[in-house]
Amino acid sequence: MKALYNYLKEVAFAFVSLANGLLLTLKYFVTPWKSIITENYPDNRANPSVADEFAGEVILIHDENNEHKCTACTLCQLACPNNSIQIISKQVETEDGKKKKVLDKWVYHLEMCTFCKQCIDACPQDAIKMTNSYELSCFDRSTLTKILNQPGSKLKEKPKVTAKVQE
Ligand code: SF4
Ligand code: SF4
Repeated sequence: MKALYNYLKEVAFAFVSLANGLLLTLKYFVTPWKSIITENYPDNRANPSVADEFAGEVILIHDENNEHKCTACTLCQLACPNNSIQIISKQVETEDGKKKKVLDKWVYHLEMCTFCKQCIDACPQDAIKMTNSYELSCFDRSTLTKILNQPGSKLKEKPKVTAKVQE
């Protein structure tokens, strides 16, 4: 008897939930001006409101001097679950004659990216971020493979810390 009571209770609860949902839909249907439910995209292409948190695509941050913070450590590449990132590095000679690994090409395969942000979390330098761009479709698949480091850009050097001599 208790099982039948519980069953009927669940059926009644389901009908109440359904009725609540339908009433809400009806309310928005008859008073659409009171609350904007959708962005009417893609008809409204120019100015839909996009949340700041929306993850559009990965970019490498450059400052006004065309400098970035990527040390080519490859941690983002290792963190990416579907090989959307290739960090290509090269060796250069510093002023004091030492060899140093620097970023050559930051290759991003947008066509494979699932926008999971794991690369962003993995980067110890905060060198990359996700934009909230939403117009990412295109007709030419090859344009989805991007080199994120800008031509002529280089690693932003950290200010040298000089030890203070105690007198
Ligand atoms: S957002 Fe995710 S899938 Fe896209 S490049 Fe970063 S780690 Fe890879
Ligand atoms: S973007 Fe960050 S994690 Fe990726 S190679 Fe550069 S410094 Fe390393």
